[in-house]
Amino acid sequence: MTEVWWQDELQKPAIEGARFLPVGLGRSYGDSALLAEEDGVMKSISRAGRLVGFDDETKVLEVEAGCSLGEILKWCVPRGYFLPVVPGTQKVTVGGAIANDIHGKNHHESGTFGRWVVSFDLFRTEGGWVSCSKSENRDLFEATIGGLGLTGVLGRVRLRMHALQGEGLVEQETVRFDSLREGTEILSGLDRRYPMTVAWIDMASKKMGRGVAMGGRFVEGECPRSKRKGISVPFDAPSCLLNRSAIRAFNTVYSATRHPGVERLPFEKYFFPLDGVENWNRLYGARGFLQYQCVVPLHAISALSELQRKIADSGQGAFLSVLKKFGPLSSPGLLSFPMSGWTLAMDFAMEGAATLSLMKKLDGVVREVGGRLYPAKDARMSGEFFREGYPQWEELEKLRDVSITSRFWERVRT
Ligand SMILES: Cc1cc2nc3c(=O)[nH]c(=O)nc-3n(C[C@H](O)[C@H](O)[C@H](O)COP(=O)(O)OP(=O)(O)OC[C@H]3O[C@@H](n4cnc5c(N)ncnc54)[C@H](O)[C@@H]3O)c2cc1C
Repeated sequence: MTEVWWQDELQKPAIEGARFLPVGLGRSYGDSALLAEEDGVMKSISRAGRLVGFDDETKVLEVEAGCSLGEILKWCVPRGYFLPVVPGTQKVTVGGAIANDIHGKNHHESGTFGRWVVSFDLFRTEGGWVSCSKSENRDLFEATIGGLGLTGVLGRVRLRMHALQGEGLVEQETVRFDSLREGTEILSGLDRRYPMTVAWIDMASKKMGRGVAMGGRFVEGECPRSKRKGISVPFDAPSCLLNRSAIRAFNTVYSATRHPGVERLPFEKYFFPLDGVENWNRLYGARGFLQYQCVVPLHAISALSELQRKIADSGQGAFLSVLKKFGPLSSPGLLSFPMSGWTLAMDFAMEGAATLSLMKKLDGVVREVGGRLYPAKDARMSGEFFREGYPQWEELEKLRDVSITSRFWERVRT
């Protein structure tokens, strides 16, 4: 991997002739941010990540695409602004957020990250820098949002920010439920009252389907800053640590310690709990884990129970499972993952053929109801399933930068 510090380094002849892939902080779980050595060079853009300017009147922030969301929040929260959409970690770049058109807990209220992008500069190996917005090079603008980094290298980005109520303190209401069906009803109710909602679901223990739904909103009040340093997992855990019974036990303990009621917490704890544990992925041991994130249309709610049944039958439990209802707001992105419906994200410890076979069965359920998987989290779906879920993939292929490809793209486009 090579690092790009300045946008000038992208100019010819620096990358002429070589196949490459621009990457951010590598927080995508699958292979969309990977390129095999024999296929080209991965170019990390995260060093080219400067804050450029902010217009108070229009609330538009200009940054280089390598800037992390964490850096932006550090600057904007004390000034009364917040990013319009954040994922479950602040350790991602603006470039990565656009290329996967990320979603957050507020999808029902604010849609995806791409909806808040006003314009950007895109470096293409043939043609150099191109300005893209809804009114300029619209085809490239739309193909780049959710375009998996394939249309060119993002340079400067203009992004509309949210005015923040308070200093970053979040009020969270927690409600328990006993079944998946009840969870979806509670989430729908919370969506009407809160701008941010999400549910954790037990997909491992004997009481599968129970969980806790959480609604959140920013409130006025002093936001305590945590003085405790985060913890770190120094090496790969032995594979026995997250075996099936340990995963079941974790889900039971997690469920027992989530108390219904209302509490107030700093935004970092509310949005980014995993960021407090450095290298948390090592808990899965050397074989790692696979995340399965699907979305199924609203009317196909029974598919969620079918997924749960298949997981129970397999005897493999998911360590962390998160349910969220996507709202109807559409994204400008050509290949955006979210659609109005239910999205379920589940982490499975990698057990080889057994895990892959379970996921194939889950694919069958999602395909049957017209759902799809999130490329940012995928390392294994078939090309056929991808192309079925994202019929506009051919338009992206036409606009793809001639020098750019990824392992994911080589795997799914044929
Ligand atoms: C703990 C955790 C929680 C998460 N929660 C969520 C969530 O709630 N919602 C959600 O949507 N996602 C979530 N994600 C996924 C994450 O937000 C995305 O994978 C994001 O794209 C990662 O950004 P990155 O900077 O690490 O980019 P990378 O993973 O390095 O790259 C992602 C894509 O961006 C492209 N790219 C990066 N920089 C550029 C550039 N300058 N120009 C052009 N293309 C570029 C790459 O080619 C690649 O296709 C989560 C990930 C983690 C680890």
